[in-house]
Amino acid sequence: MDHCNTSDLLSLEQALTKMLSQVTPLQATEIIALTDAAGRITASAITSPIAVPPFANSAMDGYAVRCNELSSTMPLPVAGKAFAGAPFKDVWPVNTCVRIMTGAPIPEGADAVIMQEQATVSEQGVTFSGNPRAGQNIRLAGEDIEQGAAVFPAGVRLGVAQLPLLASLGIAEINVFRTLKVAIFSTGDELQPVGQPLGEGQIYDTNRFAVRLMLQQLGCQIIDLGVIRDDQQALRKAFEKADAAADLVISSGGVSVGEADYTKQMLDELGDIGFWKLAIKPGKPFAFGKLKNAWFCGLPGNPVSAVLTFYQLVQPLIAKLSGHSQWQPPLRLQAKTTTALKKTPGRLDFQRGIFSTNAHGELEVRTTGHQGSHVFSSFSQGNCFIVLERERGSVAVGETVEIELFNGLLN
Ligand code: AMP
Ligand code: MG
Repeated sequence: MDHCNTSDLLSLEQALTKMLSQVTPLQATEIIALTDAAGRITASAITSPIAVPPFANSAMDGYAVRCNELSSTMPLPVAGKAFAGAPFKDVWPVNTCVRIMTGAPIPEGADAVIMQEQATVSEQGVTFSGNPRAGQNIRLAGEDIEQGAAVFPAGVRLGVAQLPLLASLGIAEINVFRTLKVAIFSTGDELQPVGQPLGEGQIYDTNRFAVRLMLQQLGCQIIDLGVIRDDQQALRKAFEKADAAADLVISSGGVSVGEADYTKQMLDELGDIGFWKLAIKPGKPFAFGKLKNAWFCGLPGNPVSAVLTFYQLVQPLIAKLSGHSQWQPPLRLQAKTTTALKKTPGRLDFQRGIFSTNAHGELEVRTTGHQGSHVFSSFSQGNCFIVLERERGSVAVGETVEIELFNGLLN
């Protein structure tokens, strides 16, 4: 019950510290093609083999000039052309200019490019308006990245911001950590996989679907063991199979007060597992520990609790195990609530909210409504958690609260 003595509950920070202090990153690495590296984590620092841009080039379509020739001798005849991929290679006579396109190498000796909008072309040559600055419209070699410069440290996840950059450096292969193998299953006699009709008292298995999706986004290799019945033998077999195949085993259900004893007894034989009561809402029951081979996380059965505990605890755990040392927790900001928020002191609440900016540019947040741990639609309606401190009570309209924006796992 919520109103019970909550001093024996483990805070989120305590739980996270306990978990992260025990695990060490995977050691195994592999060299793979850049084209296969989306979502992978760098296993060593990367330095640039070349300068980017590799040569000085024009930022504009226009004319390459030597500034000191401009005042006295206009119009300047056009001595030739420089295109991207086709440099001007001829001897460049004094008191002339070179027609140049964006990305074309700057001809030797040119110190500015004048854009074509400031040029008037006649039979005698080109007359320029305005006073060009030395270096104008020239992108210098190494301006983006110098040769030998540090590009990324180890522990960076490779996505759209990283991979094209590595491609621009001509890097075709990359050293990454091996992907984490994660075995998952749901427990419960009431669970039915989607695609099957529901019998009496049955519900669809939401958690395995949610967990699988989040693991996919985290780049894990998934071993899906399906739904396991509430039966000692079946459970034991599932745990043994999962433990042998994976680096991490994630189950859902069976860790709440009613069922924990049962699971506990069996897991005591299979490993060293702590059954925790977390001071967070939703998501009180949570199990963590080591099986013979793999790490184990036991998520609560209620779908909102399962997703929340995955998000708050398993996500950083997977980041550490996968070598993703540059992982950042989701962004937290302050916002004013425009709806009253119900809360009982004693646990850290992660209510689902909808944030927006008001007419004055200030952040506001409102509740998604019903906060029950079975109300999964609160995730699709919401775009953030409203994080309410452990000892705080109900919140009135206009009070400032902390919000935590959903990251890519949830939106
Ligand atoms: P448990 O932790 O196993 O006692 O389950 C707590 C609540 O969550 C019960 O209402 C279960 O029916 C429900 N539940 C457990 N596992 C799942 C699941 N995989 N998908 C949807 N609901 C679940
Ligand atoms: Mg159950």
